[in-house]
Amino acid sequence: MREQQAERPIRSVAVVGGGSAGWMSAAAISKMFGRGIDVVLVESEEIGLIGVGEATVPHLSAFNALLEIDEAEFVRQTQGSFKLGIQFNDWGRIGDSYVHGFGSIGRDLGLLPFHQYWLKARAEGRAKDISAYSLNTVAAPLGKFMAAPSDAPPNSPLAEIAYAYHFDAVLYARFLRRRAEAQGVKRVEGKVVAVYRGGTRGFVESVQLESGEHIRADLFLDCTGFRSLLIGEALGIDFDDWTQWLPCDRALAVPCEKVGPPTPYTRSTAREAGWQWRIPLQHRTGNGHVYSSRFTTDDRAADILLNNLDGKALADPKPLRFTTGKRRKLWDRNVIAIGLAGGFLEPLESTAIYLIQAGINRLMHLFPNADCDVALQNVYNEQTDFEYERIRDFLILHYHVTQRTDSDFWNYVRTMTIPDSLQHHIDLFVADGQFFRNGTEMFGLTSWVQVMLGQGLHPRSYHPAVDWVASADLHALVDHVETVVRSNVSLMPAHEQFIARCCAAQQRA
Ligand code: FAD
Repeated sequence: MREQQAERPIRSVAVVGGGSAGWMSAAAISKMFGRGIDVVLVESEEIGLIGVGEATVPHLSAFNALLEIDEAEFVRQTQGSFKLGIQFNDWGRIGDSYVHGFGSIGRDLGLLPFHQYWLKARAEGRAKDISAYSLNTVAAPLGKFMAAPSDAPPNSPLAEIAYAYHFDAVLYARFLRRRAEAQGVKRVEGKVVAVYRGGTRGFVESVQLESGEHIRADLFLDCTGFRSLLIGEALGIDFDDWTQWLPCDRALAVPCEKVGPPTPYTRSTAREAGWQWRIPLQHRTGNGHVYSSRFTTDDRAADILLNNLDGKALADPKPLRFTTGKRRKLWDRNVIAIGLAGGFLEPLESTAIYLIQAGINRLMHLFPNADCDVALQNVYNEQTDFEYERIRDFLILHYHVTQRTDSDFWNYVRTMTIPDSLQHHIDLFVADGQFFRNGTEMFGLTSWVQVMLGQGLHPRSYHPAVDWVASADLHALVDHVETVVRSNVSLMPAHEQFIARCCAAQQRA
């Protein structure tokens, strides 16, 4: 029956799951299609959300713009703070620290990126650490932040300051729910207990709730988190496990009291068998320890976490288990998996919410008719594979390029075989500091260069064209960039002052 209506447009979408993935999807679809498509979201309070996912990347502002979300309102409602990048401590060697900042490094000149000139100046002893040439990496450790002022001159670094957000994941889902419901999304409370398929192509026709109610739709979004109820359980799409490269498979998450002003960056501290995050919010600090069960025990991981909090723990650590990897297909038949239902890359670079956003974006562009043409599915799945694999490589880089030898975990990741695609990036950089962005891969030159240098990888040389620039001009360029960055950072207020002035959340009892 469904096949006879193949060319008809989609009239109903069922979003199964109400975490960030579910509510982001429901909010975006209802915004884009208005009341032309019925959107129903099913979620189960009894099952609840994963409730972590507090750090983001700058791309989220584009999603907010699509939904016409006012930034100040969004930060206020989610107890949010701002993020200029991630500070990595003890990753390359114990005692090392660097910031992977968003935005650009210095100013490009001619065909070459700034870091090429910096490599030569550095070799001649005429340059500081690369962090001195980026607004974000200078401002972050000083605790300074501001969004681009509307009157910033276009060539000022302040005009293009790149930043993301930290927020309370549960408040974020609630915030989006209010917006989605206002746009017409119908929320149904209940646990899905069965999935019914039919037709010659085995499309999902309905999901049945514990109450007996059936939710029918033309298109189903599987946003059921790690349960992966539709794409995994009902359609049986296999999971590619990437644990051999990213061996962390557990996390403990715990909020603690806030003891100082919120830092405008996420902190990631490498531990003996994983790493610990610290995410500052307005009302509390989020913490977690991501670790590999192959190399440590849950008790030891909990001790490390609780002994390294800034303030008093506000709850018992919440245990989470995961496998890094992805489903072979995120779109199969009339089911598209968005969020953890489709795959998971550990949170080292805060990419999960970005992947949700990218999935929604791709779906908008490839939005099907009710027949869910296989050509659309193929493009969707190829693009998703590419995106996941490129981020996967970037994450592996942090572990593999290390000089740490102090534990079995670090010895394993330092010596493991890595994907060829990552080895190519490393070889290119080591040769003469080059980075070649592969199509639309998410992390670009600034990110790769900062992390490769920060992890202790140093190019043997620099691009030959750097020698075409006279030494005096090259030194003047490097000095000028440093001065401009420093003087602009001096204009920035403290992060806390900026929040107090623009987007302070209401105090909670
Ligand atoms: P969930 O939040 O788990 O939501 C699943 C939904 O499905 C829930 O509403 C649940 O009730 C519903 N559901 C499940 N089964 C049924 C059923 N049978 N019937 C009805 N409803 C059902 N991301 C970032 O971007 N930044 C981070 O800093 C970050 N940190 C993370 C740290 C850790 C340790 C982990 C594990 C993840 C982290 N993430 C992070 C990822 C982030 O948490 C998720 O990507 C994001 O919250 C989206 O989750 P979700 O909506 O896919 O799943």
